[in-house]
Amino acid sequence: MSDTIFGKIASGEIPSEFLYEDDHCVAINDINPQAPVHVLVIPKRGIPRLVDAQEDDRDLLGHLLLAAGKVAEQLGVQEAFRLVINNGSGAGQTVFHLHLHILAGRAFAEGHMAG
Ligand code: AMP
Repeated sequence: MSDTIFGKIASGEIPSEFLYEDDHCVAINDINPQAPVHVLVIPKRGIPRLVDAQEDDRDLLGHLLLAAGKVAEQLGVQEAFRLVINNGSGAGQTVFHLHLHILAGRAFAEGHMAG
């Protein structure tokens, strides 16, 4: 468990409304949404950045993708959502506890990597 705000949210130390929870991750609404649906999937085990993940994290990384799909279905956006992982401050990462952004509910430019 990392000592970042997401570590504290995932452990329950900071109370938050979980949209989804299982043994390995939680999902919460982003406090500063960039789309009508903007949910964060946060592993309970803290990995600072995606590039810090190790072979031991393989199952967890797969689990996070499956959980993101389940959360998207739960929210009714399974036909059109985008998953984003920011890796490093140069890419806009501000919380150094790996997390997936689920973004949906607005039009995304076709064929673009971002926006
Ligand atoms: P990133 O820039 O990828 O590190 O994403 C961090 C995200 O966490 C941003 O979209 C923030 O708006 C969001 N955020 C920061 N603190 C909180 C919080 N306490 N609860 C929910 N979302 C948060």
